[in-house]
Amino acid sequence: MNLKKDLFPIFKKQHIEFVDKRTEVEGIKTFSFKSDPMPEWEPGQHGIFTITHKKIKKATRPFSVASIHQEGLVKITTNIDYDPSDYKEALDGLTQGMTIRMRGPIGGFYIKENKPTLMLAMGLGITPYRALLKSLELKNGDGGTVALQAPIELLYYNRTGTFLYEDELNTLCEKTQTTKELLTDFAKFQSEIKAFVNHHEDDGRYFVVGSPKMTKELVAFLRGLGINKKHILKDSFIGH
Ligand SMILES: Cc1cc2nc3c(=O)[nH]c(=O)nc-3n(C[C@H](O)[C@H](O)[C@H](O)COP(=O)(O)OP(=O)(O)OC[C@H]3O[C@@H](n4cnc5c(N)ncnc54)[C@H](O)[C@@H]3O)c2cc1C
Repeated sequence: MNLKKDLFPIFKKQHIEFVDKRTEVEGIKTFSFKSDPMPEWEPGQHGIFTITHKKIKKATRPFSVASIHQEGLVKITTNIDYDPSDYKEALDGLTQGMTIRMRGPIGGFYIKENKPTLMLAMGLGITPYRALLKSLELKNGDGGTVALQAPIELLYYNRTGTFLYEDELNTLCEKTQTTKELLTDFAKFQSEIKAFVNHHEDDGRYFVVGSPKMTKELVAFLRGLGINKKHILKDSFIGH
């Protein structure tokens, strides 16, 4: 772990200003915030966001940052359903100019090596990959973290058939030469993973994001295929 990058930013607190929100698909929205100065973060990291404009219990939640620094906005995407928590209700009630507090972003969920990379997203777990792919797109120009020449594959599973950022993912994957499959069948998802593993084995780097249950299951699946723990990076969306 790189303490300076992955952990110490937890002590960085700043207020970020709500700019706008957009509905991605029914019940799922992206919230954008600006800040001056803009924080720096590694694409793929998550921030700790606290509601401050309203008094609520349990006012803090972690969210992956779905944007990159160069976009000039901190973007988070989350589900706001028919019976949202107090937190989500307060988030949804933000109007332009209001602020929330952010700590970080933190975490080790970012690309560190130029290795064949398999990105596994389940449900809302696609959020950090938007940032990772955006940064890889920039790499063709300038900035970003590691320039990946190795093959990249994105496998995005959602049994409901609802896929976030679909148009954007098409463009990003094309520009970054990322192979992409959107899947509703878990058995097919697993067989695509197996195909990647058969090809790249432990030379590959495996990124896994989803609910704790799904993440645990998938990590066990990769381990069962012989992948070393060190080569699996996971973000468990605790709370889902
Ligand atoms: C690293 C990381 C990244 C995440 N990124 C995203 C993202 O990009 N998009 C997204 O929608 N969600 C993300 N989550 C999950 C998010 O933080 C919320 O937990 C989730 O959205 C549910 O929020 P809610 O208000 O509906 O919780 P509720 O369903 O109301 O929560 C139920 C109970 O669980 C507790 N709880 C909720 N969340 C957490 C938590 N994270 N840790 C401990 N207790 C909790 C609450 O206090 C409450 O008691 C991420 C979580 C982690 C750990």
